Amino acid sequence: MAFELPKLPYAYDALEPYIDARTMEIHHSKHHQAYTTNLNQAIAGTALENASIEEILTSCKDLPAVRNNGGGYWNHNLFWEVMAPDAGGHPTGRLAEAIDAAFGSFDGFKDAFAKAATTRFGSGWAWLCVSKGELEICSTANQDNPLMGEGCQGTPILGLDVWEHAYYLTYQNRRPDYINAFFSVIHWGKVSEKFEAALK
Ligand code: MN
Repeated sequence: MAFELPKLPYAYDALEPYIDARTMEIHHSKHHQAYTTNLNQAIAGTALENASIEEILTSCKDLPAVRNNGGGYWNHNLFWEVMAPDAGGHPTGRLAEAIDAAFGSFDGFKDAFAKAATTRFGSGWAWLCVSKGELEICSTANQDNPLMGEGCQGTPILGLDVWEHAYYLTYQNRRPDYINAFFSVIHWGKVSEKFEAALK
């Protein structure tokens, strides 16, 4: 069964001024579409053809085309979901308590997450994960993710794309400014849902 590009849950310009409409359009309709198309091509006629994306991610380490495109497919699905217009602010409830426990405070979380995103050399992702019931921050290269056994090997509940295609039109070489802007579009309600699901 072929994977399909999910519809964005908001308009391309919905995250402005933090992420511009042209970047969102190219990122979703070209980059994410290409990962989806190329994943389908890479698994066609193989034992993975009818596997779930999670099964694919845990068994693709030695299959570069599946690894790169399967990661690209899954990572962007999460990325679109954990952003929203009129979002940002801070988490509440059990997620907020877990963030305080793991990072000392919400500001401590932001510092650690921004550091992971800033120091990822080249292209990759920064992640907030649930690992053995606790929160951890890590980063991975390219389109890898923790479900593949990379990084902290937990379940990602928040991901930030730090490939240049995610920010270059507005921010050029200023990745730290893009990372800072990301905090204004995080959909903490959705991240909380993913946190609760990952604890089960
Ligand atoms: Mn991307």
